[in-house]
Amino acid sequence: MSNLKIGWAGLGNMGTAMAANLIKAGYDVRVFNRSKDKEKDLIEAGAQSVKDLTELVHSCDIVFTMLSDDNAVKEVYNETNGLLSGENPGKLLIDMSTVAPETSKYLSALCEKHKMNFIEAPVSGSVKPAQDGTLIILVGGTTESYEKAKSLFDVLGKLSLYLGGAGAGSSAKLAINYLLGINIQALAETVLFAEQNGISKENMLAIINEGACGNGIIRLKTPSVINDSYPVAFALKYIVKDLKLAKEAGLSSPLSAPLLNTFSAAMNESGLGDQDLMAVIKHLEKV
Ligand code: NAP
Repeated sequence: MSNLKIGWAGLGNMGTAMAANLIKAGYDVRVFNRSKDKEKDLIEAGAQSVKDLTELVHSCDIVFTMLSDDNAVKEVYNETNGLLSGENPGKLLIDMSTVAPETSKYLSALCEKHKMNFIEAPVSGSVKPAQDGTLIILVGGTTESYEKAKSLFDVLGKLSLYLGGAGAGSSAKLAINYLLGINIQALAETVLFAEQNGISKENMLAIINEGACGNGIIRLKTPSVINDSYPVAFALKYIVKDLKLAKEAGLSSPLSAPLLNTFSAAMNESGLGDQDLMAVIKHLEKV
């Protein structure tokens, strides 16, 4: 086992599951979360807690971040009391959050200024693949840093793909989440249309899942739709964030505007932002 010391900042739904896999794989993992209570499970699993971000980066060789959005990532990477506040040349910082390609480029340049290495590595896959270590990891940055991180990515995911320079991983992530949003809204609309005409959710989902239109995300969300229960795996507010980022990155295809409008309304008008994104069906059944 490598004696690399691994830092992890951001222990939400994804970060907790991912860091747990590094601990299980035998790595020396140090954790920091803004709300300290979320560190408890990982400390019990063998991680060490550090008092702040300065200590995290100082005491580790590689530091991962898995945070909600661009503002959170910029705050954690700040030069005053964040990951870039000390002198830590040569260390590798890996951001796995879903952010704008421009934010990844900005972080890369900031790290370069501090003589630190940076790659972005957002993921495709939700909490279950994070727990199972079967995420798909979309890497942008230098090939040298990717090679250094690859054995860790092999623990976190079933596939890591090097896609190009800074911003490339984030661009790929926004594209796949566009397809995710389309799948979820299409599933919701299909089930509601069928129900309006007397076809039960159970029967419609059997037709979808047994046929060529079935796919992984639809199978994953089938129990939620049947039970009308949407425990959060990927919060609806995050697909709104990602569709906005995609729009800012140039997405203007015919389906993109109505998709963003629907999920935004589900969040702002129906108050579903903190539920799973499949809860969009509850918004659509009212419109
Ligand atoms: P989450 O459960 O909401 O966790 C967000 C994390 O960010 C928490 O640890 C939170 O700390 C931290 N955070 C937020 N603002 C912060 C700030 N200003 N300073 C420091 N820490 C801050 O989110 P998640 O579902 O794990 O998702 C994390 C990222 O992965 C997001 O970018 C999301 O789009 C992406 N993603 C999610 C999924 C999924 O299925 N959930 C799948 C793929 C990608 P506190 O605990 O203190 O609030």
